[in-house]
Amino acid sequence: MKRPKAIPVHYRILTGMVVGIVAGAIVQLAGVDPVIIASINQWVKPVGDVFLRLIFMMVIPLIFCALILGVGEFSDLRYLRRIGLRTLAYTISVSIVSVIIGITMVTVFKPGSGIPEASRQQMVSQYAEQMKSITESPVYNRERSIPDMIVSIVPRNPIEDMVNAFNPAYQGGGILAVMFFSLMIGIALISVKSEKAAAFKATIEGFYEVIMKVIAMVMDFAPFGVASLLFVLISTTGWDVMLALSKYVAVVIAALAIHQFGTYSLLLKVLGKKSPIEFFKQIDEVMLTAFSTSSSNATLPTALRAAQDKLKLPKRVSNFVLTVGSTTNQNGTALFEGITILFLAQCFNIDLTFGKQIMVIVISILAGVGTAGVPGGSLPVMAIILVSVGIPAEAIGIIIGVDRILDMCRTVLNVSGDLTAAVVISEWERKESE
Ligand code: ASP
Repeated sequence: MKRPKAIPVHYRILTGMVVGIVAGAIVQLAGVDPVIIASINQWVKPVGDVFLRLIFMMVIPLIFCALILGVGEFSDLRYLRRIGLRTLAYTISVSIVSVIIGITMVTVFKPGSGIPEASRQQMVSQYAEQMKSITESPVYNRERSIPDMIVSIVPRNPIEDMVNAFNPAYQGGGILAVMFFSLMIGIALISVKSEKAAAFKATIEGFYEVIMKVIAMVMDFAPFGVASLLFVLISTTGWDVMLALSKYVAVVIAALAIHQFGTYSLLLKVLGKKSPIEFFKQIDEVMLTAFSTSSSNATLPTALRAAQDKLKLPKRVSNFVLTVGSTTNQNGTALFEGITILFLAQCFNIDLTFGKQIMVIVISILAGVGTAGVPGGSLPVMAIILVSVGIPAEAIGIIIGVDRILDMCRTVLNVSGDLTAAVVISEWERKESE
């Protein structure tokens, strides 16, 4: 008997998403008591948590293998330097475009003027508890100076950084230090031409293949995880806050959409020589994963898989660009931070001078590089920027209620941006080798 054809994973994830959203909305609209919702969520939430943990479980081993293999595949250090510089130049230029789009939108539509003082106060006090976790985080408190942060990227003990990679209270380099360590091993591997080094590389290759298989298995569970994550989100979102901030939410989503479908399409077509429609179809599973997990790091495994199996990009380019990009190339985050800072300035009637606006642009771009690829990773960084332009950090309380939904959308942009970069840089490399 012929086995029925399996439903493609992106359809299954989409189904999970719809089920989660519809069920969450029904619970909200039916006016179910928040205490009952909390006790339902006590059982539903672990399903999503297990899914996230299953993915995060693979991220560090994956970064380790992908970077060693990505770099180790270059026959010469010159190629690595070229790809590194190209990735850097590309990241900075495209981030500038994204922040300019965001800042133009927020200046034209002014979503911050007209929010009544009373609702502002109410939102700030309603989210005071969550605000505490942001202002108490080591990123915000800047317990490390900038030079210290740079030094911590070079790990003293890489295992310590691996262990603490997702620990928000960790003071070391974390995931960037893990990348540094893996890059060093990869670089050394290029020049060690012994049989044993080849065996080491083959082992890492084998490990990488097995990790990919684990990820494929985990993605089979994704529809349930995604349904759970979205159910919890929708059933607990305060829609009154959403309504009060609807203009701001609309401006952020519209700006993200312009960058995603405008800038990226243009880059793909002109520089990457690839049809944007085909590209977005090929990365649908990646976008769905980014949307439901709100984490670029958690989406890295799916992105690497799509680059290899669907976009058919050369492994050495995609492994390097996607892995490094999952933490450092975050156009969605940069755009979001630019909009939100100016929005909050509008809310508090603070007139930012031209110099301060330029500062917002520059810091937002840097923030895109320095933000952890985890849910809500940009909030502590944003608190720092706010204070540096003279807005109280507590102002973030205004947007916390809608942040998760915006986080889902900006993470899609962050991850699509990494894949767009991988397509463009692969094309440049292809031309170079002709
Ligand atoms: N959640 C985002 C990401 O992982 C980071 C952020 O903007 O909060 O890409």
